[in-house]
Amino acid sequence: MSNTEAAIDEGARDFIRNIIASDLKDGRVETVVTRFPPEPNGYLHIGHAKSICLNFGVAQEFGGRCHLRLDDTNPTKEEQEYIESIKEDVRWLGFDWGEHLYFASDNFEQLYAWAEHLVKEGKAYVDDLSPEEIREYRGTLTEPGRNSPHRDRTAEENLDLFRRMRSGEFPDASHVLRAKIDMSSGNINLRDPIIYRILHVAHPRTGGDWCIYPTYDFAHGQSDAIEHITHSLCTLEFADHRPLYDWFIEHLPVPSRPRQYEFSRLNLTHTVLSKRRLIQLVEGGHVRGWDDPRMPTISGLRRRGILASAIRDFVQRVGITKSDNVVELAYLEHCARDIMNKTAERRMAVLNPLKVTIENYPEDGSEELEAINNPNDESAGTRLVPFSRKLYIEREDFMEEPPRKFFRLAPGREVRLRYAYFITCTDVIKDDAGEVIELICTYDPETRGGNAPDGRKVKGTIHWVSVPHAIPAEVRLYDTLFTDEEPPLGDGFLKGLNENSLTVLDNCHVEPSVVDVKSGEPVQFERLGYFARDPDTTPGHLVLNRTMTLRDSWAKVKAKG
Ligand code: ATP
Ligand code: MG
Repeated sequence: MSNTEAAIDEGARDFIRNIIASDLKDGRVETVVTRFPPEPNGYLHIGHAKSICLNFGVAQEFGGRCHLRLDDTNPTKEEQEYIESIKEDVRWLGFDWGEHLYFASDNFEQLYAWAEHLVKEGKAYVDDLSPEEIREYRGTLTEPGRNSPHRDRTAEENLDLFRRMRSGEFPDASHVLRAKIDMSSGNINLRDPIIYRILHVAHPRTGGDWCIYPTYDFAHGQSDAIEHITHSLCTLEFADHRPLYDWFIEHLPVPSRPRQYEFSRLNLTHTVLSKRRLIQLVEGGHVRGWDDPRMPTISGLRRRGILASAIRDFVQRVGITKSDNVVELAYLEHCARDIMNKTAERRMAVLNPLKVTIENYPEDGSEELEAINNPNDESAGTRLVPFSRKLYIEREDFMEEPPRKFFRLAPGREVRLRYAYFITCTDVIKDDAGEVIELICTYDPETRGGNAPDGRKVKGTIHWVSVPHAIPAEVRLYDTLFTDEEPPLGDGFLKGLNENSLTVLDNCHVEPSVVDVKSGEPVQFERLGYFARDPDTTPGHLVLNRTMTLRDSWAKVKAKG
């Protein structure tokens, strides 16, 4: 049995896969062709990942193919930088469009010819109403629209005007080409929608060739038809546009008839998923860029250290349905943690250092101790961590007057240093202000590796880094971008930004092997969380992002819900 047959047989995973499976079974479709059609007006976000995984996923599962098509019909908002980032992000997510990279702008000549076709058939007309008038004539959800006074021009007159629009005779917004459908339709999309507008703007790909551009609605379905897309998968807000897309397909000599199916958008708590809003965060300087690790963009998640496999897994677990829902950010983190817990190597780092001197350890001595790279994966092996008389420990791991349940270091108390020795705190050194600046300890040489031969136990185990071997690092900690689960609606959404979403710690110390950690391969710092190298790293300055803490709040969030 081929993969395809297996997939068809497996059936019933979601309604779209069911439809495709039965289309193949019934022979309505021979080869499944899908496409991911972003508009290159910003970077992709995790919502797009859902669409990417669906479109490329079904193509893979059913032995078909998936195109990457840039729906670049609006040159005022689109840029080459966005096109490059889209390609990079889709590839990083693990998908390949092969030779099937397309641009709606590749079809401009054909779309123009089809617009002329509609004009000649009396199915489109040039309107000179102003944008405000067009809006006013359109009516509302409860009131029908009114016909434009220019609606009944002859085909010859329309053709002449439309050609003059193309030749650049008219200024922006002075004329539009509209489909002649039905101004009293209950579906506003069918009230003589605009299909061409004048824009004297150069296009990233066609340069100065055009001064009229097709609208998204006119370009989208026809581009699908040109590419022989069999299943045009999009989000629910396009359901109301389907009758319009069908109308175009019906009235144009297109080479194929795609069918559109709609599924619900992905929404996430504590963030916004809309390029229009994300661009405001970038341009307003509220974040450091599109790939800021706080952003829900694919590039931001990547920079933060979230693995592509975690995003794919998350999207798959969320599933494809027709009902709108908001998914907890904690659930994405839960999926990401799940994978990192299995794959991330362990290292030691101290974020908020307190110096420890081990009095009875040789003055210039040092040694290397064996540490386990991943307790969940034996094949990850071990590494050697340098140890010496001077160490950093975490400031929070010491208390001068510990409360009852504090089992870590305190005066006179013995604890285990992970993979090293038992140490006992014998003295506390303070500065003039009374702040603890150093601890004097002794170690028990018999406890090498972290166990006492006499079987005595300690309640606390803490992590550490050897001072002379430590690599200094800047560590960036992140919190949610927005304080509330649901950011304020509309343009006031900026008011919901979390002022404490970024904390920079610039006095951190990590064990030497951390310099070998690659970007995009998060490690777990013992007891602290998962961390990934940030591309701001330079040869003398290591920068790390905390991908996330170790605490999984998903179970709690789930119980609450
Ligand atoms: P945005 O509102 O962020 O600009 P968009 O829908 O305008 O999103 P497009 O570039 O047109 O962005 O999207 C490309 C594809 O990704 C479309 O098929 C769209 O339906 C899908 N998509 C966009 N956002 C989401 C989301 N949140 N969940 C699932 N699919 C999405
Ligand atoms: Mg859009």
